[in-house]
Amino acid sequence: MNSATALWKLVNHKHKRVLIKDASPARFGMCEQHPHKENEYYDKLTSKAHCSICAIAMAQGQVNSEKGNLITLEHAYKQAKSQTQQQTDDISERRKTMIKNEMERIQADIQTIKTQAQNAQERISEIVEEALKELFKKVQVKINALKADRLELARQFGEIRFMNDYL
Ligand SMILES: [Zn+2]
Repeated sequence: MNSATALWKLVNHKHKRVLIKDASPARFGMCEQHPHKENEYYDKLTSKAHCSICAIAMAQGQVNSEKGNLITLEHAYKQAKSQTQQQTDDISERRKTMIKNEMERIQADIQTIKTQAQNAQERISEIVEEALKELFKKVQVKINALKADRLELARQFGEIRFMNDYL
């Protein structure tokens, strides 16, 4: 549990859920050991809040606690708030990067589809061109055959006329 999460739990203890940015130090509550004293300090190690009486006892070594772990709740709150802000900024940054990557991927897909369509169009043009060439070739062969037939018939016609002239 990081300190922001711990402080969140602390702030929301016996309170309705509020965003940490909306929480104020006034919500930190009363000390568990000294219910008449308000919590003013925060133990970074145990994530617990303490009043000034507790803090003095800890500083004097009367309570088993690592020195230097106590900070004011005000400070802990500000730290947690800036940490939460940092996390929010990180998430926004990651989200922005993700969206940017997604947009680039879509752009690349569009480019791929465009290229594929262009290639298909070129291939179709080639096929049509080849088919037309093939068709013209066949037509030419037929025309040539018919011309040859006509020539042969003309020759035979001429031959008959020639023979008739001499009969
Ligand atoms: Zn206390």
